[in-house]
Amino acid sequence: MAEQSYEELVERVRALSGVRVRELGQVGEYPIFAVEQGNDPQRPTALITGGTHGDEPAGPAAVLEFCRQGAGAWLEGLNFLAIPCLNPHGYAHGTRHNGQDVDINWAYKRDDVPEVQVVRQLVADRRFAFVMDFHEDWESPGFYLYELYRNRVPVGAQIMERVSPICPLNTQPVIEGQRARGGIIIPTAEKHEELRGEGIPVVLFDHHTDHLVVTETPTALSLEKRVQAQLTALEVVVEAHLPSAQ
Ligand SMILES: [Zn+2]
Repeated sequence: MAEQSYEELVERVRALSGVRVRELGQVGEYPIFAVEQGNDPQRPTALITGGTHGDEPAGPAAVLEFCRQGAGAWLEGLNFLAIPCLNPHGYAHGTRHNGQDVDINWAYKRDDVPEVQVVRQLVADRRFAFVMDFHEDWESPGFYLYELYRNRVPVGAQIMERVSPICPLNTQPVIEGQRARGGIIIPTAEKHEELRGEGIPVVLFDHHTDHLVVTETPTALSLEKRVQAQLTALEVVVEAHLPSAQ
């Protein structure tokens, strides 16, 4: 993956209007930002993250595009907290891992990883309506997703249906070593147990939300299509969480 300019991403964050931008922390010289929309304490908040893996550019691009367009009418039901890029060093250097060569996504337990500290501080004592994490897969022939949920109806099938006109789907029976159905991976209890305490998504689902969706776009596709696929998936999840859907 070619290196990308994090300065350019910072400029795009700073240029956003109608949102609140907050610096959550610093990794070396790179700031990690949160972009907030809506501030009604009566409403639940959705957490949306991108760029946990630095070499998956559609995630940050999709989060930024969502922040640029604005949540609009969705704010009648939800507040939004978005982290455009959790791994700025990886983003700037085109690497999956951070500057310590750590895969942030699976390092929640570690006390010496600044990106993990940012997540821990942000989510401490909070619950989210849902958490959505945008990823990409360099080897996948199509879009797929992971969904974890309790006390609610899953939306994975609906996401696949809405994304299919935009982007090919990965319908292989096994994806990343896990059983999949129609591009949807619902991790087994064993897998969940294996990653408990270590996986950021697993920790978020265990302690901070009842609904977690991780989307994976195929990196071979154009960036525009990948962003469109991510935002379409977000749309399906948001719609399921708006008061009108319940
Ligand atoms: Zn990833």
